[in-house]
Amino acid sequence: MTDHHTIDTLLDESRTFAPSAEFVAQAGYADPAIYDEELVAYWSNWANTLRWMTPWTTALEWNCPDSKWFLGGTLNACDNCVDRHVEAGAGSEVAFIWEGEPGDQRTITYAELKDDVSRIANALKSLGVGKGDRVCLYMPMVPELPMAMLACARIGAIHSVVFGGFSADSLAERINDAGAKVVVTADGGWRRGQIVQLKHITDEALAMGCPTITNVLVYRRAGDLASHHWTEGRDIWWDDLVPAQSTECPCEPMDPEDRLYILYTSGSTGKPKGIVHSTGGYMTGVAATFKMVFDHKPGDLFWCTADCGWVTGHSYVVYGPLANRAKVFLYEGAPDAPDKDRFWRMIERHRITILYTAPTAIRAFMKWGDHYPENCDLSSLRLLGTVGEPINPEAWIWYHKKIGGGRCPIVDTWWQTETGAIMISPLPALTETKPGSATRPLPGVQVGVLDEEGEILAQIGSPSSVGGKGDKPHQMGEQVGGFLALLHPWPSMLRGIWGDHQRYVDTYWGKFHGKYFAGDGCKVDEDGYIWLLGRVDDIMLVAGHNISTMEVESALVDHSAVAEAAVIGKTHDLKGQSICAFVIIKEDFKHEHPQVTPDVMIKALKDHVAAKIGPIARPDDIFITADVPKTRSGKIMRRLLRDVAEGRALGDTTTLADPNVVAALRDKYEESEA
Ligand code: ATP
Ligand code: MG
Repeated sequence: MTDHHTIDTLLDESRTFAPSAEFVAQAGYADPAIYDEELVAYWSNWANTLRWMTPWTTALEWNCPDSKWFLGGTLNACDNCVDRHVEAGAGSEVAFIWEGEPGDQRTITYAELKDDVSRIANALKSLGVGKGDRVCLYMPMVPELPMAMLACARIGAIHSVVFGGFSADSLAERINDAGAKVVVTADGGWRRGQIVQLKHITDEALAMGCPTITNVLVYRRAGDLASHHWTEGRDIWWDDLVPAQSTECPCEPMDPEDRLYILYTSGSTGKPKGIVHSTGGYMTGVAATFKMVFDHKPGDLFWCTADCGWVTGHSYVVYGPLANRAKVFLYEGAPDAPDKDRFWRMIERHRITILYTAPTAIRAFMKWGDHYPENCDLSSLRLLGTVGEPINPEAWIWYHKKIGGGRCPIVDTWWQTETGAIMISPLPALTETKPGSATRPLPGVQVGVLDEEGEILAQIGSPSSVGGKGDKPHQMGEQVGGFLALLHPWPSMLRGIWGDHQRYVDTYWGKFHGKYFAGDGCKVDEDGYIWLLGRVDDIMLVAGHNISTMEVESALVDHSAVAEAAVIGKTHDLKGQSICAFVIIKEDFKHEHPQVTPDVMIKALKDHVAAKIGPIARPDDIFITADVPKTRSGKIMRRLLRDVAEGRALGDTTTLADPNVVAALRDKYEESEA
C-alpha cells in the first residue's frame, strides 16, 4: 500500500524532443543563465521594458497574501499596447488580421487601432464612464472586442469580458457581481453558421434586474436585430455614437496597482470567481512571458485561438502580444465552419507562424480525422503551444506530427486565470520537451510540490533574495507527487476576488498557509520535469492508491481508436473508488473498423490501460459516448460525470457548453445500469 499523502505515478513517458539546431540558432532566448537570475531583479528588468509615465521606485511590497509591485510609478496598459508603438514609428505595421466566420476579412494597423480605441474611449466617457467604473463586454470575436478592452484601459475603466456563449443568467450574475455601468454588446455574432443573439440575451439579462446598468452600446455585426428589442434612452447603436468621436483621448496615468480588469474563472469546479488583475504587474508578466515562451519576433503572425472571454484571450490575444508590437490573427467563429479544415485553411491563407490552442481543440481535430490538416499547407508554422488542460501524450504527438510537421517545438503552458500569465512552460530553444509535461517553471517563478500537511517535498524555480534556492530543492533522480503551489509572489498574480477579499484568502491561501495553492496536483520526475495531473479533487483513491484521472485518460487516448477520454472515480464499497471511463472513438477508426463491436472495443481498452500503466488502473466500467460535458471553454467537467455515475442530481451546470450532453449521458448510463 502506498502513502495516502502522495500521488502514485503510473504513466511513464520517456520520449523526448529537443529543439532543432535551426530553431535554436534563430531563437531570442537560448542562454540557460536566465533561470539563475534573482526573481525580483528579473521581473524588475521586465517592468523596465514597459513605458512608464512616472518611473516606479519599489519593486515589491509583500504582505502575504497581498502583493504590490512597482510602486511609486504610473503607466497605462493601452499606452503600452498601442500609443508607444505608433510614436516609435510603427503606425503602419499591422496589429490585427481578422476573419469573420462567413469569410469576411479585415486588417488593422497600429495607427488605425489607436484612432479606433480613442474613439471608443471617448464614446464610453460620453456615457459617463470614468476611472474605476466597470464596463461589461459581451461581444463576438470581432476586432471591436479587443478595441473596447483597450478603450477601457485607456480611460482607467475596469473591463469585465463575459464570453459571448454565456446565457442571460450567467451574464446578469456577472454584471451584478461587478456592478457594471455599461454593457457593450453586438446585435449578434456568427457561430457555426448561426447568429448568436447577443443583444437579445443582454435584454433578457437586464430584465432579470441589473440596477447598475445605465446604457447598452450595440455594435452592428449580424445586421438582423428586430426593432422591438430596443429600449430607448438605454440602448445606443455603436454607429450612432462611436464614429463621430474625436481620435484625441489621452491615456489616463494609472497607479500600477489600479485594477485593469475583472474576469470570472471557467467554473470547472463550481461557482465562478471574479478574479481581479492589476495594471503594472500584470502588464509586466504578460509582456515577458509572451516574448519568451513564444519566441516572438518581428515578422511573426501569432494566432492564439482563445476567445477574449477567457484569460488566455486577455493575456495572449490582447495585452501580451500588443505590448510586444506583435501582428495578431483573430478569428470569429467555430473550427468546423464551413468545414472541419477551417483552422488549417486560415493558417495556409495568412501564413500564420505561431499557433496557440487548447487540448480540447486538438482532441476534436484528432477525432475528425487526419485528412483535414494533411490537405493544407502548414509549412509557415514554426512554433506550437497548448493551454487549458493537461495534454495527453498521444494528443501531443499528433499535434507535433500532423500540425507541426515534426519540426515545431511545442510549449505546453500551465497557468490559470489567477496567475495572469504563463507560470510553467518550456522555453522553446532551451527545453528538451517530453510529451505531456509542462516541463519547468519559467524564470521568475518558484514552484513547490507539497504534501497534505503543506510540507515542501520539492522546490523548483528561480532563486529569490528572500528565500534563496529554497530549503528543499528537487534532487535529480528523485520522483515526487503532490499539491502544486507557488512559493513566491509574482507580478501578474491576482490581486483578489472582486468584492470578497476573504474568499480570496480562504480559496488560495487557506489550505497551505503562506503558499498559493489553486487546486492542481502534479508530479516531478527524475529530471525535475513537472507533470500536471489535473485537479486534486479529481484524483481517485482505488484500493489504497491515489491515481490521477489524467494518467488513465492518457492511457486510453494512447489506444489508436480513442480521440478523447474522461475518467472519474465512482464510490465503490470495497475499493473506495472504482474507475469509470467515458470514451470518444475517432471517426477514422469507425470507418476503417466497422466490424468492431462495443463489447470487443471496451474489453480491448481495459486491457490496453492495464498493459500500459498497470492492473491497478484497469477501468471497471467504460462507456463509449459521442461527447462528454465540458465548460464553455472546452474543459471536461468531471464533477458532473461523477454526479451521473453516482446517480446524483446534477450540481451547478451554468458554465456548461451544452447541457444536453449530460442529460443524454445520464439517460444512456441509467439504461446500461438497469
Ligand atoms: P474554476 O477555477 O472556476 O474551477 P478553471 O480552473 O477551469 O475554473 P481557468 O483559470 O480557466 O479556470 O483554468 C486554469 C486551470 O486549467 C488550471 O488550474 C489547470 O487545472 C488547468 N490547466 C491550464 N493549463 C494547463 C496545462 N498546460 N496543463 C495542465 N492543466 C492546465
Ligand atoms: Mg481554477
